[in-house]
Amino acid sequence: MPKISELQRYLIALGSNQRHPRHGPPTQVLRAALAAMAGEGLTVEAMSPIIASAPIGPSRRRYANAAAGVATTLDPPALLALLQTVETRFGRVRRGQRWGARTLDLDIVLWSGGLWHSKSLTIPHPRFRQRTFVLTPAASVAPDWRDPAGTCTIRHLHARLTRPAPVRRASPRRLHVGP
Ligand code: ATP
Ligand code: MG
Ligand code: MG
Repeated sequence: MPKISELQRYLIALGSNQRHPRHGPPTQVLRAALAAMAGEGLTVEAMSPIIASAPIGPSRRRYANAAAGVATTLDPPALLALLQTVETRFGRVRRGQRWGARTLDLDIVLWSGGLWHSKSLTIPHPRFRQRTFVLTPAASVAPDWRDPAGTCTIRHLHARLTRPAPVRRASPRRLHVGP
């Protein structure tokens, strides 16, 4: 597998909404996935709490989501290949349906090297800024990591996304005085 010599840091988003016959429910799948990533030589430097979130797309089952900070000498495409191998080992079948139910999804959210763009890999992950289920766990492991495509930190992106919508004030009632 191709390597670059310097240590790279990545923020990985983990998701699962299907039981695994051996590992059990989604929360256990995520814990086992982290162990598998460590077994493949990634140094897991930080792991967020696991949260539950509503599904997007066609699947109705709730997700377990988490984020992990990892260090490795692998370059982005090599890391993606490794993550996809782990997904497959956990029984993930790509049926061509986007966002279908899956035992394990491992996405690269951020990279210490900044931006990456190729046909099969875009970093930062193109949809992470709109996803509470990514930003909530990410904010607990890497709040000060800056989005290289903008100026915001993860803490800022998370706050912006989860801030309650402003209450719209009804226009003041006019008192009708006189005839
Ligand atoms: P989403 O990307 O919206 O979270 P998904 O994770 O369910 O959807 P997958 O089926 O896991 O989508 O991946 C589809 C393709 O996305 C992969 O084959 C991979 O080549 C590509 N991809 C592009 N950028 C990334 C990234 N940053 N992390 C992981 N996969 C990526
Ligand atoms: Mg995904
Ligand atoms: Mg994915």
